[in-house]
Amino acid sequence: VTTFKGKSVALFGLGGSGLATALALAAGGADVTAWDDNPASVENASAAGVKTGDLRALDWSALDALVLSPGVPLTHPKPHWSADLARAAGVEIVGDVELFVRERRAHAPDCPFVAITGTNGKSTTTALIAHILKASGRDTQLGGNIGTAVLTLDPPKAGRFYVVECSSYQIDLAPTLNPSAGILLNLTPDHLDRHGSMQHYADVKERLVAASDTAIVGVDDTFCTRIADRVERTGTKVVRISKRNVLADGIFADGARLLLAQGGTTREIADLSAIQTLRGSHNAQNAAAAVAACLAVGVSEDEIRAGLASFPGLKHRMQPVGRRGGTLFVNDSKATNADAAAPALSSFERIYWIAGGLPKEGGIASLGGFFPKIAKAYLIGEAAPAFAATLGEAVPFEIAGTLERAVADAAADAEKDGSGGIAVLLSPACASFDQYKNFEVRGDAFVKHVAALPGVTMLIE
Ligand code: ADP
Repeated sequence: VTTFKGKSVALFGLGGSGLATALALAAGGADVTAWDDNPASVENASAAGVKTGDLRALDWSALDALVLSPGVPLTHPKPHWSADLARAAGVEIVGDVELFVRERRAHAPDCPFVAITGTNGKSTTTALIAHILKASGRDTQLGGNIGTAVLTLDPPKAGRFYVVECSSYQIDLAPTLNPSAGILLNLTPDHLDRHGSMQHYADVKERLVAASDTAIVGVDDTFCTRIADRVERTGTKVVRISKRNVLADGIFADGARLLLAQGGTTREIADLSAIQTLRGSHNAQNAAAAVAACLAVGVSEDEIRAGLASFPGLKHRMQPVGRRGGTLFVNDSKATNADAAAPALSSFERIYWIAGGLPKEGGIASLGGFFPKIAKAYLIGEAAPAFAATLGEAVPFEIAGTLERAVADAAADAEKDGSGGIAVLLSPACASFDQYKNFEVRGDAFVKHVAALPGVTMLIE
């Protein structure tokens, strides 16, 4: 990136995207000094050729910017020391998405740029849009919070499409973000530990759609409904989407049918009922958003339908991984809070539920409506006692402790059950950090334990 060519930049946070950003800035002619509180990350960056040094020793009055990695606190619970130093010296604070945005503006301001945010469904929607674009033969770059750092993508040029998942942290660090199409899927309380209040969290997410040429907003919760109205009043084009309500204007789901309401008429634009990877009303919301975004950047309806139908789905998100008799084993490790677990619980009829891990605020009380479908729960990790208390008399459970034991016991019980349509479902409603490095490692462990069961047929490689 050439935005800071010939300028001096401090960078804090040398995880994956931080390191990529430091290298991209240096390659573009910036004088970058990078640091991290973790000595191993600093060492790793030095070895990769990044100039490292304690940022506290720099002359901040001579710096042009502080580049922060997403997740380094800007405000809450208190600003990181580097942010304090930058503010005191009047130095602007940006993240890698902002650097990408400036690069695009300088070199290819018209290349289509879709940005996706929301509490749940971001990665699915991002992957789905990129899949539709790629399947239609377009030059497509997929990155951001979903995994690939934006500055490691191919550089902006005319005709290239960007699909970028943005966390709140990344939006916070991107003051001039301006997507061609911006999506705000939904807003429920999560990550409040990092953002302080729901209002601040909602304000950050609102900025992404407010700054878009076309704002695509899910109107199934009150925060987002208000945001859609407010953004529309500023003159921005708004496309509303809903997974459950009939809209006079916008894209909404009627069961698995997606309908487009426009100019007084409503017609079907896609039918999701035969698409295994887009099961459930939450996926209708994701698909509606993807359809709206693809239409906004000029993809034809036929191309959109073809792309939806061939979507391979994402790992760890309601992913069918194995089958034994009438039992389906489903990896939904990504469900790290109760809201995210709800879609999977609503998508199956008789469930042997593996849940627990590092508990999040609120627990699983909000999932009470699904308890009658849960044949038994297998509780793991630190959350087990609290979850057991919530399940109480309503749901049979055991404290399995480990995932391995939970899989073995659930598989045995499911086999004895004998009725059809059974799911052994890992949808933990918890973070994984008490027992695993991250949700991916937890999901992979689940797959490994399922694969080790006698007589199981694996549905994935
Ligand atoms: P994110 O990237 O926002 O964390 P993912 O697409 O990775 O979202 O999905 C995470 C979890 O949330 C999955 O377990 C899935 O079942 C659930 N989920 C997916 N889409 C939605 C949605 N639109 N609304 C609510 N929950 C969803």
